[in-house]
Amino acid sequence: MADYLRPTSLDEALQALARPWTVLAGGTDFYPARVGRAIDENVLDIGGIDALRGITAGPDSWWLGATTTWSELLDAELPSLFDGLKQAAREIGGRQIQNTGTIAGNLCNASPAADGVPPLLALDATVQLAGRAGTRRLPLASFITGNRRTVLAPGELLIAIHVPKPALDARSAFLKLGARRYLVISIAMAAATLEIEHGRVIAARVAVGACSAVAQRLPALEAALVGATVDSLATRVEAWQLAPLSPIDDVRGSASYRREAVVTLLRRLLAGFAS
Ligand SMILES: Cc1cc2nc3c(=O)[nH]c(=O)nc-3n(C[C@H](O)[C@H](O)[C@H](O)COP(=O)(O)OP(=O)(O)OC[C@H]3O[C@@H](n4cnc5c(N)ncnc54)[C@H](O)[C@@H]3O)c2cc1C
Repeated sequence: MADYLRPTSLDEALQALARPWTVLAGGTDFYPARVGRAIDENVLDIGGIDALRGITAGPDSWWLGATTTWSELLDAELPSLFDGLKQAAREIGGRQIQNTGTIAGNLCNASPAADGVPPLLALDATVQLAGRAGTRRLPLASFITGNRRTVLAPGELLIAIHVPKPALDARSAFLKLGARRYLVISIAMAAATLEIEHGRVIAARVAVGACSAVAQRLPALEAALVGATVDSLATRVEAWQLAPLSPIDDVRGSASYRREAVVTLLRRLLAGFAS
């Protein structure tokens, strides 16, 4: 290994990034990608920066620090808006992975099967990036650009995720399909956030992951859900609404299986809002 640095402030980290470092958070994606070879790159461990950890509510949005772990999210007292993200957190590896893996690490790793992405898309999340020149905020949908690709520029860190507070009380949910119930990479997963008033949907955001290089929102389905009663949501799902998806054949499932499975997954997910 060349150099290892564990700064305790964001400023120190950003100054260090004047030269190339590989960022390390929980390491649960970093280390498995390097099995069997020596780590010969400079490693910047951001786990010691307290200012990047925790969850706080502001007047208009929630702030989720980049190095907040999945377990910390699960332990946080949060409104039902976050139920879907918590359901995803419970299914990210086992307890050891949840204790170490971070929310931002999941986003920056940009795997098509990253379970954190669909629920955060359904929460309309934005990400905040910081570099020596300042900070910028952009929608999560613009942050991940492909399989393992993001818009992070050299010298930039993802420092926080912002979740806007909806106008009405909102609920969210997440469902994952794998080859077995636990400890599995998703074949497909779906997440939804619904704002409901007097038993009818006022606003809907639905996203599907592991069925395209980047998880996708489904605008046609979202439009079909607006105005529907909560006990009729599953009937609004139709196969043509999956047009934004482009599933691939791989060891976990064929493209045609994924297309069929997603319809069932979405119907189950939406039916769950009636209970
Ligand atoms: C056994 C096992 C099971 C798993 N199961 C699942 C699962 O079911 N679902 C799932 O989605 N994932 C799963 N994962 C993957 C992983 O645990 C998650 O993606 C986790 O959230 C990654 O976070 P981390 O902090 O460990 O990231 P790290 O490994 O530290 O970093 C991941 C990548 O992001 C970059 N990075 C991290 N933080 C930042 C930042 N703030 N700014 C800029 N770049 C950054 C790093 O340079 C690296 O390229 C599993 C991993 C293992 C080992």
